[in-house]
Amino acid sequence: MDFSNSTPTTFPQDPHSFSRPEIARITHVDWELQVDFEKKQLTGTGFYQINHQDAPEVIFDVRHLHITEVRVDGIDQDVDFILTEEKPFLGQALHIPLQPASNRVEIQFQTTPQAAALQWLEPSQTAGKTHPFLFTQSQAILARTWLPCQDSPSIRFTYTAKVQVPSHLLPLMSADNPQEKDASGRYFFKMEQPIPSYLLSLAVGDLTFAPLGTRCGVYAEPSSIEAAAYEFADTEKMLEAAESLYGPYLWGRYDLLVLPPSFPFGGMENPKLTFATPTIIAGDRSLTSLVAHELAHSWSGNLVTNATWNDFWLNEGFTVYFERRIMEALYGQDYAEMLHTLGYQDLLHTLEDLQDKPQDTCLKLNLENRDPDEGLTEIAYEKGNYFLRHIEKLVGREQFDAFVNKYFGTFRFQSMDTAGFELFLENELINGDEELRQKINAEGWIHTPGLPQGTPPTKAVLFEKVAQELGKWQQGTSARDLATGDWSTHEWLYFLTNLPRELSVSQMQELNQAFGFTDSGNAEIQAEWLRHAIKHRYEMAYPALEAFLVRVGRRKFLLPLYKALLQTEEGKTRARDIYRKARPNYHAVSTSTLDPLLQ
Ligand SMILES: [Zn+2]
Repeated sequence: MDFSNSTPTTFPQDPHSFSRPEIARITHVDWELQVDFEKKQLTGTGFYQINHQDAPEVIFDVRHLHITEVRVDGIDQDVDFILTEEKPFLGQALHIPLQPASNRVEIQFQTTPQAAALQWLEPSQTAGKTHPFLFTQSQAILARTWLPCQDSPSIRFTYTAKVQVPSHLLPLMSADNPQEKDASGRYFFKMEQPIPSYLLSLAVGDLTFAPLGTRCGVYAEPSSIEAAAYEFADTEKMLEAAESLYGPYLWGRYDLLVLPPSFPFGGMENPKLTFATPTIIAGDRSLTSLVAHELAHSWSGNLVTNATWNDFWLNEGFTVYFERRIMEALYGQDYAEMLHTLGYQDLLHTLEDLQDKPQDTCLKLNLENRDPDEGLTEIAYEKGNYFLRHIEKLVGREQFDAFVNKYFGTFRFQSMDTAGFELFLENELINGDEELRQKINAEGWIHTPGLPQGTPPTKAVLFEKVAQELGKWQQGTSARDLATGDWSTHEWLYFLTNLPRELSVSQMQELNQAFGFTDSGNAEIQAEWLRHAIKHRYEMAYPALEAFLVRVGRRKFLLPLYKALLQTEEGKTRARDIYRKARPNYHAVSTSTLDPLLQ
């Protein structure tokens, strides 16, 4: 495979990394890692190949990471490295002096209990309840808490890793992965495609593998592997649909890993191995657009990568657009339109939530001196998608697809910033057509808060039926008599998100008796219902609410539920009570958002 495009000559100014790739940068790393569940610690050595021209030093990012020894060029002598003062959420710069001919740096390190990327789970927090579990979440700038690295999305490198784990556990990485345990507990990983540091990942647990096709498979704990394999049966078809849209999949295998419920996100697009929340296992394959989403990142994000976190919309906007094109190819246009409509509703809510921070509703962000995690809103996802759909409608699908294909092909294994995208748009689509330029209005979408005036709303045809049934219920038809028989999760979500603002406890009771929302096995439906339960003081659902918040760590669900609780005095007490019990099960990504609200 040809990865020659991966050698950039210029680098963007990244406000979230101390490294200076323009003077010296990593091109390849060989890691050795020991995973110690007793101490909850990773101990490791990294052998870094450095590309530079007479640079006096190479700079790494580290945060809450203990550096024990540094050597240069394999010389058996400690080097005087410098660690600068700790900065909030950025951590420290690790300066290592170089000689003109230096090309190799060796760093020994140990993680600390504050390593925010890592979550060490007790056996009780797993499905099987007998073995501990470890997983990482490196995006956006947490890789530096478990490995010294140049932690900017614009810097790519290949890697290998020798990993030692307890013999009854299986480690997996964003690399070529084993499918069976090895009694020695020693494993070797290789990633031949150059990736940025935020895509580094490691999971260790009592895991087993099930194939889903020739290139796809799923890993999960033994007790959930069967349900996982059923849920994700269409993965290989999604991969084929994606390739026929935007070109060959360049990463070899595409596997999924189902994590314990504390995983803070829906999914994380770690290359070759998507990390996924178990909350998408609904039993009816109704929440698999998340798989399409993570798969789409194999192009948008992992192949063409946002240059800095200010350009995050390029990763997520393209991925949401691509995800829905995959869903459309598999399940039809009406189905995809439902996803767009639900996304549009979320976008409107986000615009409302961010009223006081209008600049955060531009696609291009300015996150300097802020935690890049703050840019992780629906704006990047749904406004980004909306903008791309807007262009698609103006130029037609055929021309738009040719444009996207060329975008992925031209910039594969490179990073892209917003200005670069705008230039490509100008050269490849607008091409001097002033009228088209006005209509596309890139300035309005990318650099102006909110939605441009006159943006038409999205409304799926299939939701009209839902609105009718909802209307009937409000006119007095009993909930049991509504025609809901063929509804998918998406219709139910539309129903729930469009319930009247005021509901009495007896109306809530009627809905629950008819549809069993409180104990729904579908996390999306249950979370949406529980939000109503809080708002309308439907106390019958409180035990289920507490159980949900204690079990699930996915921030997308936690935040609205806790926020709803915090609206009342009585709710505040309940929220803090539940949070005390639930917090040990949450990843740092979730607690860093929730602590300021609840502690
Ligand atoms: Zn994404």
